[in-house]
Amino acid sequence: MNKPKMATEKGIPSSSRVLMLLGQLERTNGEALHPDTEVTRQLTGKILHLIQTQEKTRKEIMGKGSSGMEVILASLENTRDLQTILNILGILNELLSVGGGRRVGVFVSKGGTAILLQLLLSAGKESPPSEELMLQIHCLLAKVGPKDRKFGIKARLNGALNVTVNLLKQNLQNHKLLLPCLQVLRVYASNSVNAVSLGKSGVVDLMFKIIGPYSKKNTSVLKVGLDTLSALLKSKMNARRAVDRGCVPALLAIYQDWHRNDTRHRHMLIRKSILGCLKNVTNIKLGRKALIDADGMRILYSTSTECLPVRTLDPLVNTSSLIMRKCFPKNRLPLPTIKSVFHFQLPNIPAEGPVAQIYNQPPGVDDVVDESDDNEDAEMDTEMDTENEEEEKEAKNDDIETDIRKLRPAKVLTRPFDELRSYERFFVELSEDFQGFEFGNTKTAVPPAPRTPQPRHLQPIVVPTDRAPPLSCPDPLLKTPGMEKGEPPRYEDQPLSLESIALTKATEQGLDRELTHSLDKLTLDPSAGPENGTGAVPDGTQEENAEQAVLEVPDTAALLPLHDPDLYLEMVKSTRSVPGYTEVAYPDYFGHVAPNVREPILERVYGVQRTKIFQDIERLIHPGDILDKVVYDLDLQSVPVVTDGETLKFNSQFESGNLRKAIQVRKNEYDLILNSDINSNHYHQWFYFEVSNMSVGQPYRFNIINCEKSNSQFNYGMQVLMYSVQEAISGSPCWERTGLDICYYKNHFSRSSIAAGGQKGKSYYTMTFTVTFQHKDDVCYFAYHYPYTYSALKMHLRKLAEMRTPQIYLREDVLCETLGGNLCPLLTITATPESSHNDHLCQFRNRPVVFLTARVHPGETNASWVMKGTLEFLMGPSTQAQCLREAYIFKIVPMLNPDGVINGNHRCSLSGEDLNRQWQNPSPELHPTVYHTKGLLQYLAATHRTPLVFCDYHGHSRKKNVFMYGCSVKETVWQTNVNATSCDLHEDLGYRTLPKILSQMAPAFSLASCSFVVERSKEATARVVVWREIGVQRSYTMESTLCGCDQGKYKGLQIGTRELEEMGAQFCIALLRLKRLTSPLELRNHAHLLDVENDLIDTRCKITSPTTYVMEEDEPAFLEEVDYSAESNDEIEPDMDPEFHDNPALTDPLSDSEINNQDSLI
Ligand SMILES: [Zn+2]
Repeated sequence: MNKPKMATEKGIPSSSRVLMLLGQLERTNGEALHPDTEVTRQLTGKILHLIQTQEKTRKEIMGKGSSGMEVILASLENTRDLQTILNILGILNELLSVGGGRRVGVFVSKGGTAILLQLLLSAGKESPPSEELMLQIHCLLAKVGPKDRKFGIKARLNGALNVTVNLLKQNLQNHKLLLPCLQVLRVYASNSVNAVSLGKSGVVDLMFKIIGPYSKKNTSVLKVGLDTLSALLKSKMNARRAVDRGCVPALLAIYQDWHRNDTRHRHMLIRKSILGCLKNVTNIKLGRKALIDADGMRILYSTSTECLPVRTLDPLVNTSSLIMRKCFPKNRLPLPTIKSVFHFQLPNIPAEGPVAQIYNQPPGVDDVVDESDDNEDAEMDTEMDTENEEEEKEAKNDDIETDIRKLRPAKVLTRPFDELRSYERFFVELSEDFQGFEFGNTKTAVPPAPRTPQPRHLQPIVVPTDRAPPLSCPDPLLKTPGMEKGEPPRYEDQPLSLESIALTKATEQGLDRELTHSLDKLTLDPSAGPENGTGAVPDGTQEENAEQAVLEVPDTAALLPLHDPDLYLEMVKSTRSVPGYTEVAYPDYFGHVAPNVREPILERVYGVQRTKIFQDIERLIHPGDILDKVVYDLDLQSVPVVTDGETLKFNSQFESGNLRKAIQVRKNEYDLILNSDINSNHYHQWFYFEVSNMSVGQPYRFNIINCEKSNSQFNYGMQVLMYSVQEAISGSPCWERTGLDICYYKNHFSRSSIAAGGQKGKSYYTMTFTVTFQHKDDVCYFAYHYPYTYSALKMHLRKLAEMRTPQIYLREDVLCETLGGNLCPLLTITATPESSHNDHLCQFRNRPVVFLTARVHPGETNASWVMKGTLEFLMGPSTQAQCLREAYIFKIVPMLNPDGVINGNHRCSLSGEDLNRQWQNPSPELHPTVYHTKGLLQYLAATHRTPLVFCDYHGHSRKKNVFMYGCSVKETVWQTNVNATSCDLHEDLGYRTLPKILSQMAPAFSLASCSFVVERSKEATARVVVWREIGVQRSYTMESTLCGCDQGKYKGLQIGTRELEEMGAQFCIALLRLKRLTSPLELRNHAHLLDVENDLIDTRCKITSPTTYVMEEDEPAFLEEVDYSAESNDEIEPDMDPEFHDNPALTDPLSDSEINNQDSLI
């Protein structure tokens, strides 16, 4: 036999019979206007036979370089002969039934879908249509549809939908034809426009004829029918129609039937599909109501409870829980208003914005709920509104600044120099002549008394007491015993050992008795002014008779050189809070000694969230079990104090405290509501409160129910902090990470759109944790992170001043007064010049400025601990510290937002605004600390002393490690791919040096988390404004995790104050290295260090991940995400189930997953 030359032959054994036949087929297609039907029929019949009998022929046809598929499709398109068509469809069915997605991909790419749909259409015109032909076409479409992204549109435009629907209606009993038709319908229905159209054609009702109670027969048909119904019910219009016809009770009954009869759990997927229908139909309010009316909550709850012990049924439990959460009637927060309990009258109220809104709200308006949920059913889905299905959603981030002009640092002098000149008084060191000053190591020498040219009204308020001498102008040298020996105490060198805490031991019994008396309240007596001078003491310690025991204060002086309880109370007196707090929290009074134990990041226990949610759902199922007893209420101070010994006592009326309400839900479970930031109606994240009257050894569950962030590190191993006063007294005064069963999830309390930035239908989140108390009669404190009050800062600054030596130049100025009447300190730290010789003065005055700020966000207490580490290092006796002081002049504003800190705010100042969004145009009245800090920087720029480094310390609630955000034009441009010419920009890489050095030396620091992209949403932050307007190239935000580290030495551990303080010290050492790298004189001597810069240049082009724009969430999804992301009003929920390939709509068209086997799983 002659072997014809053919296109299909390339590289393939010419002996292949099937290829030869294909070649003949190709010629038949090509040569004739009237192809010989008989020949084509024979050829295709032979090919079909070969394929059915010889495995290898399939490979030959589909092999690389083969044009077999084209030839087959061309033949299909050309022929009208039924037998030939059936032959070809048979060939295709054989070819596509194996090989997964690749072969289908080839079929789709060669236009196979359109040919098949065309064939379907013409077959549908026959009356009656050929059953065999319809069967074959649908079998093929069922294989192809899920892999063709455009299948839904193609089918609709082609008019294929009706053909399938009509066929189905006529063949409901024909199970052979039913299955492939349903499979195709399921793919059609996954397109939202199709779903609406199919619904109008009565397909929803049709599906209810197919699905039904438990049966071992036709489970495949049932499963596909349910999935189709589920897809159709995503359309609100279909859902409404279905609810009207009673589908919700019907589905519930079917579900119960399967639950009862499928005892061996062979049909889990069918049961899940029934739940899938319920899940979608309850996306509409009507559906949720129908479910409640049909006792659906109880049905789902009890079936889920029965499923819980079988792990393989988890998908059922998860989906049930999702539905129950969605249908759980939305509650309002039990509050009279969501506005903060405390109000602060602003000197002037902004014309618009959230603060103005709060002020302008008429009294009596219920802002706790609004009509968020009620207008949903008015929306009608149209066929047109979802036509954008072809638009692929690009993961484009539109927050990145693309305007090159805005990216270029442009020094702007917004205030006239004459005005800026008033800041000269904060730089007296630059005009100081140091005449008559004794330099060197003489112990008697005292540096010049700090000149603090402050306006008279800004004088710090110091209340002298009988317990401590007035310290308003301390002479630290006379007070530091270590100094007399010429060696100041070096606390860093001392091991932190708990044994070293001296304690007056009391008998166990005695201690308890004392505590019941003395652990009542630590209150400042407001009447105890400077005149009577009793000072602040715990109630009943000093004024009562001698029989009363004195509260033992742990002696931590050796371990906490900057802490002094008496001094703390002294400081509290001049701290002004809006509520006028007089109580002092014990932890702030006693101090915190970082424990010497490892505190690992908590491993999340599987199913915690589910368990918690089920407990929440039980509130609805068994309302009789709920106590609902208000035990603490700031709005209603008259709430009676509970004395039954069964109920916890709450309190947070002290500096930085912010608990608003506590409700006992069950015997040992409490719902807690946090107060909003002052002059605001939201920002709930930070918390700090006191608990007492607890029973020992019983787990207590606490739920903070008005959290707002959509995710939290509490889902990734972060624990809350607890401070036990009993522990403190017996020798461990410390905050410890505690709490089990911690998770964070969306709850059923609806958020008013007023507080959600206008967004409707939002819910709050619950942060839940469980604690078992160890001590009777204890007083325990809980906090979001290690508290650090404004009074603590003042105490630390006072103690730091005592560390001053003649070599240290330290000056504390009052930068300004805050809205709340507190003073904002500004520190100047450098080394006193070697002498008053001109050269030395010259060196002194030419030192570059390093400008540091912290705690603009009150809830980020970690920033203060890092700042404490920085300050302590800078004031320390080490040679490195001395070198640093000789190298730079440090200007430090350690707390940019004292009012926010004092009043327990999370984010804002008293103006109700985020101060770190005010840097572009700060108001001297509303944002004085930012206005004047910026003024200092503007003054420096105007006098050609632009700081070398600016860094603002922050805390990050959603990421691990410590990292920096900086500003780089190039790295921003790289992210946006604007245009090539802009990439020719010259940019000094200096901004990368400091983070790079830090990553080499600070264990908590992670370069990989750093970002140097300028975002539009951040354009009014300190970092961006100081870079753009002041012209500081190295302008940073340093973010410290609130949780812990996932790299480096502290990998797997939660972060503590020791690590945070170390970070602050390491930052200083990094500045010292930076100095060596940036000083031209020293470059030659430190050539090896230049490697850092070289290294940077080398890796510049390779670094991609470190420069990648940092997304909001960088944590991997955890197992329970399906529950976690439940959103009542989401039309389409991302289906995170492991069986997601079950849903053709979500299948990646290019994947090779074995979608064809889906029914065999049943
Ligand atoms: Zn912050």
